[in-house]
Amino acid sequence: MKMTNFEKYTKMRNLSNSEYKRSCEKLKSKLDKIIKHKLTEKLDNKNYEAVFAYLEKKFPNINLRSVNIYLCDSEFLESLGFLGIGGFYERINSTIIIPRKETQSKINEFEICAKLSIDEVLVHELLHYISDNIGRNNYSIELEEEFAYGNSLDYLKSKGYTNDEIIINNYLPFLYMSELLKLKVKNTKKINEKAKSNAISRGKELISVYSSEKPNNNNDNKDVESFLIFDFI
Ligand SMILES: [Zn+2]
Repeated sequence: MKMTNFEKYTKMRNLSNSEYKRSCEKLKSKLDKIIKHKLTEKLDNKNYEAVFAYLEKKFPNINLRSVNIYLCDSEFLESLGFLGIGGFYERINSTIIIPRKETQSKINEFEICAKLSIDEVLVHELLHYISDNIGRNNYSIELEEEFAYGNSLDYLKSKGYTNDEIIINNYLPFLYMSELLKLKVKNTKKINEKAKSNAISRGKELISVYSSEKPNNNNDNKDVESFLIFDFI
């Protein structure tokens, strides 16, 4: 049976060390298959100059030009179990995988899917790479995602999106899953609505923090959890 993104997210948060190790090995073999696949191609940085320029201005000491970034066939990714993803960053080999299809498949009526273009996914995933390279890699998934979403805000605004559009199309799938997890109850229509409205409020807060403050890269609020990949959105 296929897992919903919420189930995958919950599972990922609860991995033991041995399960984590097995997941690493399984992921590495999937990654090899993706890279070797006939419809996979390396992303040409020149086509995404605005993305690199934006991030290099924000984080001038990080070399982003040599990151391995691949554009892949969405159906092939789905066949490997990466269903409904916008993209992901694999930390061990510093590899970014982005499906070409810009809308994601829904598994059930409650799932919320992002509407992201490739450049927007690229900004987000490169921010995870940046996070790893400025020593934030032991942060919880919550703080990690906040870092990526918060620091992509000005890029999204530069494309002319309103705050509401940014929340609904970009931030909501993750915030919604995270709020659902906090509610710790079975998926029902009422719970989903509550999670969605909490997620929207959190999106607004996130925008207000990142609109008015410089991101704080030296936050000491560390978490012991460590994750293999980010982004099941
Ligand atoms: Zn992310």
